Amino acid sequence: MEQQIEKLLATVTHPETGRNLVESGFVEHIAAAAGKATVVLRFAKARDPFAVKIKNQTEALLREAFPGTEILVVVKEGGAAPRPEPKTRTMTDGIAKVIAVASGKGGVGKSTVTANLAVALRNLGFRVGVLDADIYGPSQPKMFGVEGYTPLAEEQGGIDVMIPAEAMDIRLMSIGFFIKPTDALLWRGAMATSALKQIVHQTKWGMLDFLLADLPPGTGDIHLSIINELKIDAAVIVSTPQQIAVADVVRGVEMFRNPNVNIPVAGVVENMAYFTPEELPDNRYYIFGHGGAREYAERNGIDFLGEIPIIQSIMEGGDTGRPAAGIDSRVERHYRELAEKIVGKVMKS
Ligand code: ADP
Repeated sequence: MEQQIEKLLATVTHPETGRNLVESGFVEHIAAAAGKATVVLRFAKARDPFAVKIKNQTEALLREAFPGTEILVVVKEGGAAPRPEPKTRTMTDGIAKVIAVASGKGGVGKSTVTANLAVALRNLGFRVGVLDADIYGPSQPKMFGVEGYTPLAEEQGGIDVMIPAEAMDIRLMSIGFFIKPTDALLWRGAMATSALKQIVHQTKWGMLDFLLADLPPGTGDIHLSIINELKIDAAVIVSTPQQIAVADVVRGVEMFRNPNVNIPVAGVVENMAYFTPEELPDNRYYIFGHGGAREYAERNGIDFLGEIPIIQSIMEGGDTGRPAAGIDSRVERHYRELAEKIVGKVMKS
């Protein structure tokens, strides 16, 4: 029975590495006797974000295979050694701080905020890069007007590195450079993860003060994989007023705060918060409601980073490949405030 169990464990893969539990060296002990089976798994990392998921998956698998047997899967984290996997070489050493921009769901302006925040940080004098990891709808190439860019490769120290696109002094690498828009939905799971891994580590980022990572909307395995790859210093969550209370946003915050992930949430940005007509610059119309984001943030001990209004040039900037924070002074002001707040928080940490 123990051999059968081992065979089954070899079918459970770790979502991050794509390697099964046996070949990863994570199976510490298997014991089966008198209607009971115990498996002890020991992971390499002290805090493995996939530990609970793998434990549940393993238990379900064994229960199904051995009905009537009492199954116990014990997980110990940290210390599985030696980790047989060769260490990936990485070009990320010159990046000082990585900020993830996330949202509970699509369409709230996460990519727009990422692009404009990048420009605002550049305007403050920082060296900035953008990693577009939104496998479901990579839009940074369009935002920066570099659609169709094909990253060239050059050899550096024996490995191939890719040259990022550059627009408005910002280095940009996108999963969108490698897939057709019609492919996007097919790019899930392991394939997307390994492509992103390559983009993260093999892009010639050079020296950067900030790398902004535009994450896919929502929460899931793919997020945890990216998060694990990047050593993220802070997460910024983008929301719109009408969905702020929805479970999606809470889940987004919880994903980062999960003890196994443990990434500081810099705060929540409320995008498309209100509308001000050009001819009535002092009027604010809170079309989608008001105060929800601030309230939610305060209740959950998260900083509220500010409101970005609905401004036509923001949308136009996204369509014409020039983020409005670089051309419209009204937009620039909002994003400068946001950038300064984030810099203040991230530099302290
Ligand atoms: P997400 O990345 O969350 O899916 P996008 O950044 O693609 O969302 O934004 C969705 C749409 O909303 C885009 O057409 C964008 O131009 C528009 N948009 C985002 N923020 C604003 C804003 N503050 N004012 C006007 N239009 C906006």
